[in-house]
Amino acid sequence: DLLVVGSANADLVIGVERRPGPGETVLGSDLAVHPGGKGGNQAVAAARLGARTALLARVGDDAHGRLLLDAQRAAGVDTAGVLVGGAPTGVALITVDPSGDNSIVVSPGANGRLTPGDIRAAAGLFRASRVVSAQLEIPLETVVEVVRGLSPGSRFVLNPSPPRPLPAEVLAACDPLIVNEHEAKVLLGEGRAGVAPEDWARSLLAEGPRSVVVTLGAAGALVASPAGVARVPSVRVAAVDTTGAGDAFAAALAWRLGAGEPLAEAAAYAARVGAVAVTRAGAQESYPTAAEVAAL
Ligand code: ADP
Repeated sequence: DLLVVGSANADLVIGVERRPGPGETVLGSDLAVHPGGKGGNQAVAAARLGARTALLARVGDDAHGRLLLDAQRAAGVDTAGVLVGGAPTGVALITVDPSGDNSIVVSPGANGRLTPGDIRAAAGLFRASRVVSAQLEIPLETVVEVVRGLSPGSRFVLNPSPPRPLPAEVLAACDPLIVNEHEAKVLLGEGRAGVAPEDWARSLLAEGPRSVVVTLGAAGALVASPAGVARVPSVRVAAVDTTGAGDAFAAALAWRLGAGEPLAEAAAYAARVGAVAVTRAGAQESYPTAAEVAAL
């Protein structure tokens, strides 16, 4: 079984002709509210593929929290581990202009109140999970506690997004560390990244994770382990909206690893899942079933 530990946000989206300046008001489109947050996205993506998936997260005791829980349950996610209260549900306030550029303000809210104590209290969920997947939209000390709470023999997958320096203890547990180009460059720092993605993968591997996956958008992905670096084939599709593709990739990878697949095969499957996700609008709304992936 897969346990996703992470964030759940309500994404509040308004289309605008142009953004307001200081003290100015502009009128925008009707409000669209979408379930989001990297943790919520990963859990929905995995469950839609057919993975037995539980989410450990925190939402507020408010309408957004109920909306997010409904979206998780509709996808088949076990939400018994979702904690309620302590702060308002996390929100992303998003304006999109006619050229498609967006400006985003995130209020972490309840995501920032998911504590190490919450992780320790969820020991039963950890015992039931072969794979635990996390991201960095929750406090870093909480992610450290996730690593400490892993059951013997269970596998840890981390997408360090938004990227920030990681303690050696967390890096050493990652199998794999999953990064896109931006995250790779931030983790490695300017000047150390090297020119080719293969260099990023090797440099990141030298930081201590057991394996590394670098996602490369339309170019597919790379997997790196002590055995070497390998290309994962990309899938040619007409991309409509890449929002949440990385989350779908990470969730699919974690699920296939939990099913016992080798890293390269699991990543190839995840690339197909990511490819379907970019052919449709939205994040959670765009995630495919296993049958849709097979039909690609
Ligand atoms: P992120 O969303 O984190 O920036 P990427 O853009 O690298 O991550 O996308 C994650 C994965 O989704 C890629 O490795 C690839 O497999 C798939 N993907 C993303 N964009 C495309 C695309 N335009 N065509 C085909 N596959 C894509």
